[in-house]
Amino acid sequence: MNTIYDTIILGSGPAGLTAAIYTARAFLKTLVIKGNQPGGQLTTTTIVENWPGYENGIDGNELMLNMEKQAKRFGAEILSSTAAQAVLTKQPFTIYCGEKPYHSKTVIIATGESSRVTGAPGEKEFWAKGISACATCDGFFFRGKNVVVIGGGDSAMEEANFLTRFCNSVTIIHRRDIFRASKIMVDRVMKNPKIKVLWNKSIEHFNGSTKLESITVKDTKTNKTEAVVTDGAFLAIGHIPNTAIIKDQIELLPNGYIKAQGATTTNIPGVFFAGDVEDYRYRQAVTAAAAGCKAAMDVQKFLEN
Ligand code: NAP
Repeated sequence: MNTIYDTIILGSGPAGLTAAIYTARAFLKTLVIKGNQPGGQLTTTTIVENWPGYENGIDGNELMLNMEKQAKRFGAEILSSTAAQAVLTKQPFTIYCGEKPYHSKTVIIATGESSRVTGAPGEKEFWAKGISACATCDGFFFRGKNVVVIGGGDSAMEEANFLTRFCNSVTIIHRRDIFRASKIMVDRVMKNPKIKVLWNKSIEHFNGSTKLESITVKDTKTNKTEAVVTDGAFLAIGHIPNTAIIKDQIELLPNGYIKAQGATTTNIPGVFFAGDVEDYRYRQAVTAAAAGCKAAMDVQKFLEN
Protein backbone atom coordinates (compact mmCIF):
# COMPACT_ATOMS: atom_id res chain seq x y z
CA MET A 1 0.00 0.00 0.00
CA ASN A 2 1.17 3.58 -0.69
CA THR A 3 1.67 6.21 1.99
CA ILE A 4 -1.03 6.35 4.63
CA TYR A 5 -1.72 9.94 5.56
CA ASP A 6 -2.87 10.94 9.01
CA THR A 7 -5.46 13.12 7.37
CA ILE A 8 -6.70 13.93 3.90
CA ILE A 9 -8.50 17.24 3.58
CA LEU A 10 -10.97 17.61 0.75
CA GLY A 11 -11.18 21.25 -0.31
CA SER A 12 -8.86 24.25 -0.24
CA GLY A 13 -11.05 27.11 0.93
CA PRO A 14 -10.55 28.79 4.34
CA ALA A 15 -11.92 25.68 6.14
CA GLY A 16 -9.66 23.17 4.38
CA LEU A 17 -6.49 25.24 4.46
CA THR A 18 -6.92 26.30 8.08
CA ALA A 19 -7.39 22.63 8.98
CA ALA A 20 -4.20 21.86 7.04
CA ILE A 21 -2.22 24.56 8.87
CA TYR A 22 -3.28 23.06 12.20
CA THR A 23 -2.78 19.38 11.33
CA ALA A 24 0.55 19.92 9.57
CA ARG A 25 1.79 22.10 12.39
CA ALA A 26 0.89 19.27 14.78
CA PHE A 27 3.19 17.02 12.68
CA LEU A 28 0.32 15.05 11.21
CA LYS A 29 0.99 13.81 7.69
CA THR A 30 -1.47 15.94 5.77
CA LEU A 31 -2.69 15.91 2.18
CA VAL A 32 -5.00 18.62 0.84
CA ILE A 33 -6.87 17.76 -2.35
CA LYS A 34 -7.69 21.17 -3.73
CA GLY A 35 -10.88 20.34 -5.62
CA ASN A 36 -12.37 21.98 -8.65
CA GLN A 37 -12.41 25.48 -7.16
CA PRO A 38 -8.88 25.85 -5.77
CA GLY A 39 -8.96 28.37 -2.94
CA GLY A 40 -12.74 28.13 -2.68
CA GLN A 41 -15.37 30.80 -3.13
CA LEU A 42 -13.16 33.67 -1.94
CA THR A 43 -11.23 33.42 -5.19
CA THR A 44 -14.36 34.56 -7.05
CA THR A 45 -14.56 37.82 -5.13
CA THR A 46 -12.21 40.77 -5.32
CA ILE A 47 -11.29 42.50 -2.08
CA VAL A 48 -12.15 40.73 1.17
CA GLU A 49 -12.73 43.49 3.68
CA ASN A 50 -14.02 41.50 6.63
CA TRP A 51 -11.10 39.11 7.16
CA PRO A 52 -9.68 40.36 10.46
CA GLY A 53 -6.19 41.78 10.46
CA TYR A 54 -6.25 43.51 7.08
CA GLU A 55 -7.27 47.08 7.76
CA ASN A 56 -7.67 47.88 4.07
CA GLY A 57 -8.88 44.47 2.96
CA ILE A 58 -7.04 41.79 1.04
CA ASP A 59 -7.54 40.32 -2.41
CA GLY A 60 -9.40 37.00 -2.12
CA ASN A 61 -6.88 35.14 -4.29
CA GLU A 62 -3.95 36.55 -2.37
CA LEU A 63 -5.50 35.56 0.95
CA MET A 64 -6.01 31.98 -0.23
CA LEU A 65 -2.53 31.76 -1.74
CA ASN A 66 -1.08 32.94 1.56
CA MET A 67 -3.05 30.28 3.44
CA GLU A 68 -1.78 27.62 1.03
CA LYS A 69 1.83 28.76 1.46
CA GLN A 70 1.37 28.76 5.24
CA ALA A 71 0.03 25.17 5.17
CA LYS A 72 2.94 24.10 2.93
CA ARG A 73 5.46 25.73 5.25
CA PHE A 74 4.38 23.32 7.97
CA GLY A 75 4.68 20.37 5.60
CA ALA A 76 1.17 19.89 4.21
CA GLU A 77 1.14 18.36 0.73
CA ILE A 78 -1.19 20.16 -1.63
CA LEU A 79 -2.53 18.25 -4.59
CA SER A 80 -4.02 20.15 -7.53
CA SER A 81 -6.66 17.59 -8.30
CA THR A 82 -10.29 16.77 -7.60
CA ALA A 83 -11.44 13.80 -5.59
CA ALA A 84 -13.53 11.60 -7.83
CA GLN A 85 -14.49 8.89 -5.38
CA ALA A 86 -14.29 8.34 -1.63
CA VAL A 87 -14.33 4.96 0.09
CA LEU A 88 -15.15 5.72 3.72
CA THR A 89 -16.52 2.33 4.69
CA LYS A 90 -13.23 0.83 5.83
CA GLN A 91 -9.93 1.95 7.39
CA PRO A 92 -7.73 3.30 6.06
CA PHE A 93 -10.08 5.51 4.07
CA THR A 94 -9.33 5.80 0.36
CA ILE A 95 -9.81 8.83 -1.84
CA TYR A 96 -9.43 8.42 -5.58
CA CYS A 97 -8.26 11.23 -7.82
CA GLY A 98 -8.96 9.71 -11.20
CA GLU A 99 -7.64 6.15 -10.85
CA LYS A 100 -5.01 7.03 -8.25
CA PRO A 101 -5.86 6.06 -4.66
CA TYR A 102 -4.76 8.06 -1.59
CA HIS A 103 -5.09 6.42 1.82
CA SER A 104 -5.66 8.08 5.16
CA LYS A 105 -6.58 7.38 8.77
CA THR A 106 -8.92 10.38 8.86
CA VAL A 107 -10.67 12.64 6.37
CA ILE A 108 -11.83 16.24 6.76
CA ILE A 109 -14.58 17.15 4.32
CA ALA A 110 -14.24 20.84 3.56
CA THR A 111 -15.70 20.84 0.07
CA GLY A 112 -17.90 23.87 0.70
CA GLU A 113 -20.84 24.79 -1.43
CA SER A 114 -21.41 26.44 -4.76
CA SER A 115 -23.73 29.35 -5.32
CA ARG A 116 -26.49 28.40 -7.68
CA VAL A 117 -26.23 30.45 -10.86
CA THR A 118 -28.82 31.33 -13.49
CA GLY A 119 -26.68 30.11 -16.39
CA ALA A 120 -27.84 33.12 -18.44
CA PRO A 121 -25.42 34.48 -21.06
CA GLY A 122 -23.07 37.14 -19.71
CA GLU A 123 -23.15 35.77 -16.15
CA LYS A 124 -19.65 34.29 -16.28
CA GLU A 125 -18.27 37.30 -18.13
CA PHE A 126 -19.48 39.81 -15.54
CA TRP A 127 -18.89 37.66 -12.45
CA ALA A 128 -17.07 39.89 -9.91
CA LYS A 129 -17.53 42.75 -12.41
CA GLY A 130 -20.93 43.72 -11.11
CA ILE A 131 -22.31 40.24 -10.38
CA SER A 132 -21.85 38.71 -6.94
CA ALA A 133 -23.46 36.02 -4.85
CA CYS A 134 -22.65 37.59 -1.50
CA ALA A 135 -24.02 40.92 -0.31
CA THR A 136 -22.14 40.64 3.00
CA CYS A 137 -18.88 40.35 1.06
CA ASP A 138 -19.44 42.79 -1.78
CA GLY A 139 -22.36 45.08 -0.85
CA PHE A 140 -20.04 47.75 0.49
CA PHE A 141 -18.59 48.30 -3.02
CA PHE A 142 -22.01 49.46 -4.23
CA ARG A 143 -22.39 52.46 -1.94
CA GLY A 144 -24.87 54.94 -3.43
CA LYS A 145 -25.55 52.67 -6.42
CA ASN A 146 -28.67 51.00 -7.80
CA VAL A 147 -28.56 47.23 -7.59
CA VAL A 148 -30.77 44.21 -8.15
CA VAL A 149 -31.18 41.05 -6.11
CA ILE A 150 -32.30 37.94 -7.97
CA GLY A 151 -34.37 35.37 -6.06
CA GLY A 152 -37.42 35.04 -3.85
CA GLY A 153 -36.22 33.10 -0.80
CA ASP A 154 -35.06 34.21 2.64
CA SER A 155 -31.56 34.90 1.33
CA ALA A 156 -32.90 37.28 -1.31
CA MET A 157 -34.96 39.13 1.32
CA GLU A 158 -32.03 39.30 3.72
CA GLU A 159 -29.60 40.46 1.04
CA ALA A 160 -32.04 43.08 -0.27
CA ASN A 161 -32.61 44.55 3.17
CA PHE A 162 -28.90 44.49 3.94
CA LEU A 163 -28.04 46.24 0.66
CA THR A 164 -30.36 49.16 1.43
CA ARG A 165 -27.81 50.20 4.05
CA PHE A 166 -25.37 51.09 1.28
CA CYS A 167 -27.31 51.37 -1.95
CA ASN A 168 -29.50 54.03 -3.37
CA SER A 169 -32.10 51.49 -4.51
CA VAL A 170 -32.57 47.72 -4.58
CA THR A 171 -34.79 45.94 -7.08
CA ILE A 172 -35.70 42.33 -6.40
CA ILE A 173 -36.22 40.32 -9.57
CA HIS A 174 -38.24 37.17 -8.95
CA ARG A 175 -39.45 34.54 -11.41
CA ARG A 176 -42.89 34.06 -9.80
CA ASP A 177 -45.59 36.31 -8.33
CA ILE A 178 -45.13 35.09 -4.78
CA PHE A 179 -42.07 34.89 -2.57
CA ARG A 180 -40.90 31.62 -1.09
CA ALA A 181 -39.39 33.53 1.84
CA SER A 182 -40.89 33.56 5.34
CA LYS A 183 -43.61 36.12 6.03
CA ILE A 184 -41.57 38.17 8.47
CA MET A 185 -38.74 38.57 5.96
CA VAL A 186 -41.18 39.47 3.18
CA ASP A 187 -42.91 42.04 5.40
CA ARG A 188 -39.60 43.74 6.11
CA VAL A 189 -38.85 43.96 2.39
CA MET A 190 -42.30 45.26 1.49
CA LYS A 191 -42.04 47.98 4.14
CA ASN A 192 -38.61 49.12 2.99
CA PRO A 193 -39.03 52.24 0.82
CA LYS A 194 -35.72 51.61 -0.96
CA ILE A 195 -36.83 48.22 -2.30
CA LYS A 196 -39.07 47.51 -5.27
CA VAL A 197 -40.00 44.17 -6.79
CA LEU A 198 -40.21 43.02 -10.40
CA TRP A 199 -42.48 39.95 -10.39
CA ASN A 200 -42.65 37.14 -12.94
CA LYS A 201 -39.36 37.92 -14.59
CA SER A 202 -36.87 35.36 -15.81
CA ILE A 203 -33.26 36.33 -16.38
CA GLU A 204 -32.37 36.24 -20.06
CA HIS A 205 -29.04 38.03 -20.42
CA PHE A 206 -26.47 40.01 -18.41
CA ASN A 207 -25.22 42.95 -20.49
CA GLY A 208 -22.33 45.42 -20.33
CA SER A 209 -18.97 46.31 -21.77
CA THR A 210 -16.24 46.09 -19.12
CA LYS A 211 -18.71 45.64 -16.26
CA LEU A 212 -22.37 44.82 -15.77
CA GLU A 213 -24.67 47.59 -17.00
CA SER A 214 -28.09 45.99 -17.46
CA ILE A 215 -30.02 42.75 -17.30
CA THR A 216 -32.47 41.62 -19.94
CA VAL A 217 -35.49 40.05 -18.27
CA LYS A 218 -38.53 38.33 -19.76
CA ASP A 219 -42.01 38.56 -18.31
CA THR A 220 -43.10 34.95 -17.82
CA LYS A 221 -46.77 35.87 -18.39
CA THR A 222 -46.51 38.12 -21.45
CA ASN A 223 -43.13 36.96 -22.87
CA LYS A 224 -42.18 40.64 -23.22
CA THR A 225 -38.51 41.42 -22.65
CA GLU A 226 -37.06 44.57 -21.13
CA ALA A 227 -33.64 45.79 -19.99
CA VAL A 228 -33.23 46.61 -16.30
CA VAL A 229 -30.39 49.10 -15.96
CA THR A 230 -28.29 48.39 -12.89
CA ASP A 231 -24.86 48.87 -11.31
CA GLY A 232 -24.80 45.45 -9.73
CA ALA A 233 -26.62 42.14 -9.43
CA PHE A 234 -26.65 39.89 -6.38
CA LEU A 235 -27.67 36.31 -7.02
CA ALA A 236 -29.61 34.83 -4.10
CA ILE A 237 -31.07 31.77 -5.77
CA GLY A 238 -29.71 29.23 -3.34
CA HIS A 239 -26.56 27.23 -2.84
CA ILE A 240 -25.65 23.66 -3.62
CA PRO A 241 -23.48 21.81 -1.08
CA ASN A 242 -20.58 19.99 -2.69
CA THR A 243 -21.43 16.57 -1.31
CA ALA A 244 -21.70 14.52 -4.51
CA ILE A 245 -18.82 12.16 -3.77
CA ILE A 246 -19.77 11.46 -0.14
CA LYS A 247 -23.54 11.52 -0.30
CA ASP A 248 -24.01 7.74 -0.24
CA GLN A 249 -21.80 7.27 2.83
CA ILE A 250 -22.13 10.38 4.97
CA GLU A 251 -25.44 11.20 6.57
CA LEU A 252 -26.86 14.38 5.07
CA LEU A 253 -29.75 16.66 5.98
CA PRO A 254 -32.73 16.81 3.60
CA ASN A 255 -31.22 20.02 2.13
CA GLY A 256 -28.08 18.09 1.15
CA TYR A 257 -25.69 19.56 3.76
CA ILE A 258 -23.74 17.26 6.10
CA LYS A 259 -25.68 16.25 9.19
CA ALA A 260 -23.44 17.14 12.12
CA GLN A 261 -23.23 14.47 14.81
CA GLY A 262 -21.02 16.65 17.03
CA ALA A 263 -19.07 19.89 16.60
CA THR A 264 -17.01 18.44 13.75
CA THR A 265 -18.05 14.80 13.44
CA THR A 266 -20.05 12.89 10.85
CA ASN A 267 -21.74 9.50 11.19
CA ILE A 268 -18.43 7.77 10.33
CA PRO A 269 -15.77 7.82 13.10
CA GLY A 270 -12.64 9.40 11.63
CA VAL A 271 -14.52 11.44 9.03
CA PHE A 272 -14.87 15.09 10.04
CA PHE A 273 -16.38 18.16 8.40
CA ALA A 274 -15.48 21.85 8.31
CA GLY A 275 -17.06 24.91 6.75
CA ASP A 276 -19.94 25.58 4.40
CA VAL A 277 -20.48 21.94 3.46
CA GLU A 278 -22.21 21.69 6.85
CA ASP A 279 -22.78 25.32 7.85
CA TYR A 280 -25.45 26.78 5.58
CA ARG A 281 -26.21 29.54 8.05
CA TYR A 282 -23.12 31.73 8.48
CA ARG A 283 -21.18 31.00 5.28
CA GLN A 284 -18.30 33.32 6.14
CA ALA A 285 -14.60 32.80 5.49
CA VAL A 286 -13.83 33.49 9.11
CA THR A 287 -16.41 30.99 10.42
CA ALA A 288 -15.21 28.39 7.91
CA ALA A 289 -11.61 28.91 9.06
CA ALA A 290 -12.70 28.49 12.67
CA ALA A 291 -14.47 25.25 11.74
CA GLY A 292 -11.28 24.05 10.01
CA CYS A 293 -9.33 24.68 13.20
CA LYS A 294 -11.86 22.72 15.27
CA ALA A 295 -11.88 19.78 12.85
CA ALA A 296 -8.06 19.65 12.87
CA MET A 297 -7.96 19.61 16.67
CA ASP A 298 -10.56 16.84 16.76
CA VAL A 299 -8.54 14.86 14.20
CA GLN A 300 -5.53 15.12 16.52
CA LYS A 301 -7.57 13.82 19.47
CA PHE A 302 -9.05 11.02 17.36
CA LEU A 303 -5.58 9.87 16.28
CA GLU A 304 -4.20 10.04 19.82
CA ASN A 305 -6.95 7.68 20.94
P1 NAP B 1 -34.17 29.03 -1.41
O1 NAP B 1 -35.09 29.08 -0.24
O2 NAP B 1 -33.96 27.74 -2.12
O3 NAP B 1 -34.71 30.11 -2.45
C1 NAP B 1 -34.13 30.24 -3.71
C2 NAP B 1 -34.93 31.27 -4.50
O4 NAP B 1 -34.28 31.45 -5.75
C3 NAP B 1 -36.35 30.86 -4.77
O5 NAP B 1 -37.21 31.96 -4.66
C4 NAP B 1 -36.31 30.37 -6.21
O6 NAP B 1 -37.48 30.63 -6.94
C5 NAP B 1 -35.21 31.20 -6.80
N1 NAP B 1 -34.50 30.51 -7.87
C6 NAP B 1 -33.93 29.27 -7.82
N2 NAP B 1 -33.32 28.99 -8.99
C7 NAP B 1 -33.52 30.08 -9.79
C8 NAP B 1 -33.13 30.41 -11.10
N3 NAP B 1 -32.42 29.55 -11.85
N4 NAP B 1 -33.48 31.61 -11.61
C9 NAP B 1 -34.20 32.51 -10.85
N5 NAP B 1 -34.60 32.25 -9.60
C10 NAP B 1 -34.26 31.06 -9.07
O7 NAP B 1 -32.68 29.54 -1.04
P2 NAP B 1 -32.21 30.60 0.06
O8 NAP B 1 -33.04 31.81 0.00
O9 NAP B 1 -30.74 30.72 -0.13
O10 NAP B 1 -32.50 29.86 1.45
C11 NAP B 1 -31.88 28.60 1.74
C12 NAP B 1 -32.30 28.17 3.15
O11 NAP B 1 -31.68 29.02 4.11
C13 NAP B 1 -33.79 28.26 3.38
O12 NAP B 1 -34.19 27.22 4.20
C14 NAP B 1 -33.96 29.58 4.09
O13 NAP B 1 -35.12 29.64 4.91
C15 NAP B 1 -32.68 29.63 4.92
N6 NAP B 1 -32.32 31.03 5.18
C16 NAP B 1 -32.80 31.60 6.34
C17 NAP B 1 -32.49 32.91 6.63
C18 NAP B 1 -32.99 33.53 7.89
O14 NAP B 1 -33.90 32.98 8.49
N7 NAP B 1 -32.43 34.63 8.35
C19 NAP B 1 -31.72 33.69 5.75
C20 NAP B 1 -31.27 33.08 4.58
C21 NAP B 1 -31.59 31.75 4.31
P3 NAP B 1 -38.85 29.84 -6.66
O15 NAP B 1 -39.38 30.39 -5.38
O16 NAP B 1 -39.67 30.16 -7.84
O17 NAP B 1 -38.46 28.40 -6.56
